[in-house]
Amino acid sequence: MSLNSIRPWRNIYRRKSRQIMVGSVPVGGDAPISVQTMTNTDTSDVAATVAQIQAAADAGADIVRVSTPDESSTRALKQIVAESPVPIVADIHFHYKRAIEAAEAGAACLRINPGNIGSKDRVREVIRAAKDHGCSIRIGVNAGSLEKHLLEKYGEPCPEAMVESGLEHIRILQDNDFHEFKISVKASDVFLAAAAYQGIADATDAPIHLGITEAGGLTSGTIKSAIGLGNLLWMGIGDTVRVSLSADPVEEVKVGYEILKSLGLRHRGVNIISCPSCARQGFDVIKTVEALEQRLEHIKTPMSLSIIGCVVNGPGEALMTDVGFTGGGAGTGMVYLAGKQSHRMSNDQMIDHIVEQVEKKAAEIDAAEAAREAEPAE
Ligand code: SF4
Repeated sequence: MSLNSIRPWRNIYRRKSRQIMVGSVPVGGDAPISVQTMTNTDTSDVAATVAQIQAAADAGADIVRVSTPDESSTRALKQIVAESPVPIVADIHFHYKRAIEAAEAGAACLRINPGNIGSKDRVREVIRAAKDHGCSIRIGVNAGSLEKHLLEKYGEPCPEAMVESGLEHIRILQDNDFHEFKISVKASDVFLAAAAYQGIADATDAPIHLGITEAGGLTSGTIKSAIGLGNLLWMGIGDTVRVSLSADPVEEVKVGYEILKSLGLRHRGVNIISCPSCARQGFDVIKTVEALEQRLEHIKTPMSLSIIGCVVNGPGEALMTDVGFTGGGAGTGMVYLAGKQSHRMSNDQMIDHIVEQVEKKAAEIDAAEAAREAEPAE
């Protein structure tokens, strides 16, 4: 992320972490913060799983995790990996054989805690499989499944216990000369997760996978995640995020992106700035924004659109957006392009017209970007 010298209060100084690869996606270092989700289909149903991965990727997921609890899942994984547009993380719980099978099937990363898979020989076998097949590993500490000896030592799940658990798993990988790992220390309690993440961020330079686990349904989980992840990201902690919701994985991706967009850490698609509306509105703001959100889902170019009910805030917001519409005036509103008043448009044609303007602007931005990239380096 570039730093802003004019508005320094917008700067986020990211924690310095090592960079690893999850397939083709870099995680950590100066790589963009990646967005992940997880499928909830039966993994052995290849068609359903690939369809869900594709939908998540279309919504912007950079990486998708797939659970591989049994042999039929790891068998299906090979075809899933072959058809997936994004790298796949195989979620392993305890069974070392599933980890080896997943690595052989082409998983880009294994989510596995090396301390939970048994003997040193088994750990060595898994690490060898990961090395042989170019897999990275995510250590996933969870407050709900901390090791017994740590619960006995600390009495209950607490940040110190979670950090200690993470460091124990890290040590096992390092003792086996394996360094392509990232780590998460998740909890459903925002305070516990935030404190554990701060602790682990201080204790290691491994890239960090952020998440508030079992955050809840779409609304409550979004809010919990925005508070937990938002605060950590604002502190500069976090290299990849997964929002866990009891909802469609596509919703998790959208929420993950919105959190990153709110902090200026990633930009994708149309950022709609809209007012809550009130009796002054010159058109139905809420219905219009709902319709535009759907109609503009296909735009991936980062750009901004202001949809404001009246002239109280409309012209001011339009100044700072690529396309703007402000209501007011006998069934018509003002269209703004690049911050300047452009022309009036009737309310009943305005949705189609705005979609057209946004598509045009997106094509312009893409063309300018392509021309910039084609310029020879000085
Ligand atoms: S911008 Fe106008 S319509 Fe929108 S909330 Fe404010 S006063 Fe109401």
